[in-house]
Amino acid sequence: RRLPLDQSEEPGVRQVKGACFSPVKPSPLTRPQFVAVSRDALALLGLSGDQVLNDPLGPEYLSGSRVMPGSEPAAHCYCGHQFGQFAGQLGDGAACYLGEVKVPPGQVPELLRENPSGRWEIQVKGAGLTPYSRQADGRKVLRSSIREFLCSEVMFFLGIPTTRAGSVVTSDSRVIRDVYYSGNPRHERCSVVLRIAPTFLSRFGSFEIFKPADEYTGRQGPSYGRDEIRGQMLDYVIEMFYPEIQQNYSDRVERNVAFFREVVLRTARLVAQWQCVGFCHGVLNTDNMSILGLTLDYGPYGFMDRFDPDFICNASDNSGRYSYQAQPAVCRWNLVKLAEALAPELPPDRAETVIDEYLDLYNGFYLQNMRKKLGLLKKDEPEDEILITELLQTMHNTGADFTNTFRSLSQISCPAEGDAEVEEGVVKNASELLLQQCASLEELKAANKPSMDPRELAMLLSMAQSNPALFQMISDRATIARQLDKLSKLKDLMETNQEELSGKHGEEWRRWITRYRKRLGRELEGQSDVQAVQEERVTVMDSTNPRVVLRNYIAQNAIEAAESGDFSEVQRVLKVLEKPFSTQPGLELPSWSGGGGASEQGERD
Ligand code: AMP
Ligand code: MG
Ligand code: MG
Repeated sequence: RRLPLDQSEEPGVRQVKGACFSPVKPSPLTRPQFVAVSRDALALLGLSGDQVLNDPLGPEYLSGSRVMPGSEPAAHCYCGHQFGQFAGQLGDGAACYLGEVKVPPGQVPELLRENPSGRWEIQVKGAGLTPYSRQADGRKVLRSSIREFLCSEVMFFLGIPTTRAGSVVTSDSRVIRDVYYSGNPRHERCSVVLRIAPTFLSRFGSFEIFKPADEYTGRQGPSYGRDEIRGQMLDYVIEMFYPEIQQNYSDRVERNVAFFREVVLRTARLVAQWQCVGFCHGVLNTDNMSILGLTLDYGPYGFMDRFDPDFICNASDNSGRYSYQAQPAVCRWNLVKLAEALAPELPPDRAETVIDEYLDLYNGFYLQNMRKKLGLLKKDEPEDEILITELLQTMHNTGADFTNTFRSLSQISCPAEGDAEVEEGVVKNASELLLQQCASLEELKAANKPSMDPRELAMLLSMAQSNPALFQMISDRATIARQLDKLSKLKDLMETNQEELSGKHGEEWRRWITRYRKRLGRELEGQSDVQAVQEERVTVMDSTNPRVVLRNYIAQNAIEAAESGDFSEVQRVLKVLEKPFSTQPGLELPSWSGGGGASEQGERD
C-alpha cells in the first residue's frame, strides 16, 4: 500500500498511483512539553496518565518528535468536496499516522463494540510537512490544538461518536500565523495533538481519490480510476470495521450496499446527536466526514449559546452552507458524493434507494433524542413534533440559551390532579425560570446588529424590491437576507422597552409551558405510580440534557491561560467536562453570562 514518492505533475499535487499512503517522517519539536493529557483516552492504548506525564520522553513520543519502535509513520492521501466543489487531492497535510496499537486486555466491552478491529490507530496532528501539505507548513498552534483536544474528549463524554485525543504537547518551536481579522502576524508555539480512532483511513474523501474527473471542476483524484485499490480499500474497511457485514454477505454488491446503508444510518444518527446538543461542526466537507460515523476534524466548531437555527461558527462560511440547521441536509449531500465515489462497487440505483432512507432515519433519531430531552417517555404522540418545533421557535424568539433551557425543563413536573389556580401558578413559576435563560433587550439588540453598513443594506433592500431577479443573482444573497432579517428585528427592538419585551417573552413561554404541561399530563394516563414516572423523567432528562458543554469562551479562557504559560485551566476544563451531566462541587465553569467573554471564531492556523 505504500510506494516511494512519485514526481508530482502539478505543483503541490502528489501522484500516488497504486497507493493511498506516503511514508513520512514527523518533524521533531524543540523542547516538547505536555499541556494536558486525557487519562481516559490514553487508557485505550494501555497507557496510564501518570506514567506518561512522569516519563521525560513522554512529550517526545506523543508528539512524534521521537518515533516509537516499530512505528512506520505515513501520511494518507485523500480528496474531498470543499464547500460544494470537488477540490481534488488534499491528504494529511499536517497529520501523520504513527501506527496501530493492539487493544490491551480488559478494555471496556462497549468501546470494542464500536471498534471491532482489535486495535486503535494513533496519529499526531501538527507534526510537520508531508507530501500533502501543499502551501502550508504542516504545523498546528496552541489555539487549534487545545480546541481539538478538548472537544474530542468532550464529545466522547457527551456520548457522541468521535475520534479521541490522548494528549496535547506544545514546544519552543514557532510558526508565524496571521490571526484571522486581526491582521497581526504572530509567532505561535507549534503544538501537537495525539489523536486516537479505530482508523483515520475512513474519510468519505478517502474513496474520492479514485473518482472520475469532476464534471464541474474537471479535477480528478491522484489515483483516478484505480478500481483495484478502491476495491482493496473497501475490503479493508468492511473486514476491519464492519466484520458482521463481511460475514453475512457472500455477494459483493449486496455486501457493499449493506455497508453503505450502515454508513447512512450512522451518519443520520450522528447528525441528530449534534443537533440535540446544539453542536455545529463548521466544515462539513467530505474529507471531514467519517465512514465510521465519528465526529472528525475539530476546527472552527461551536456549541450554540442562544438558540439560532442560522448559527454559523465558521467565519469563512459566508453563505451559511454549514450553519446549524443546514447540517442534516449537508450530510445527506456528502453521502451522495460518497456513493458517487464508490461506483461501480456500489451501483448508483442501489445507492439512491439507500439515500432515500436518510431523512426518515434522521427524523427518527432526532425525535427519539428530543423526546428524551423533554422527558416524554411513556408514549409517542404525533403532535410531539409540533411541541418540539414550538419550543425551538420560542427559544429563538426570546433569545434563550440552548443548553440551559433544556437543562431547566426537568424542573417542570408532571401536573397533579387539576386545580386550575394551582396550575396557573406552576406555569407562571416555570415561565420565570425559563425567562432567566433569555436575552435582555440590550443583548438582543447587540445580537441583531447587522455587520454590514446600514446604507449598503438599504441600497440592497431597494434593489431587492425593484429588481428581484438581479437581487437573486448576487452570490451572497443568503448573507444579505440574514442581514436584512436582523435589520428588521432591530427596528422592532428599537420600538420596545425592557418591560414590554419581558412581558411578551413571558407570554410566549407561558403559552408553551401550558401545552407542555398538558402533554406531561397525558404521560401519566394509565400510570399508577405518578411519583415513579416523575423520578424516571428527571433521571432521563438530566442524563440527556448536559449541564455544561464546551462553550466557545470556556475554550478561549483555557487557551489564553495556556498561551501565557498556565496549562492548568485546560486540564481543569477537561475535568469538568468529563462529567457534563453532573455537578462537581468545587469544580465549576462560569455559566453562560449572555455574550460575555472573548470569542474565537474561525480556526486560522
Ligand atoms: P481542514 O479544513 O482542516 O479539514 O483541512 C483541509 C486540508 O488542509 C487537509 O488536506 C489538511 O491536511 C490541510 N491542512 C490543514 N492545516 C494544515 C497545515 N497547517 N499544514 C498543512 N496542511 C494543512
Ligand atoms: Mg480536515
Ligand atoms: Mg483542520
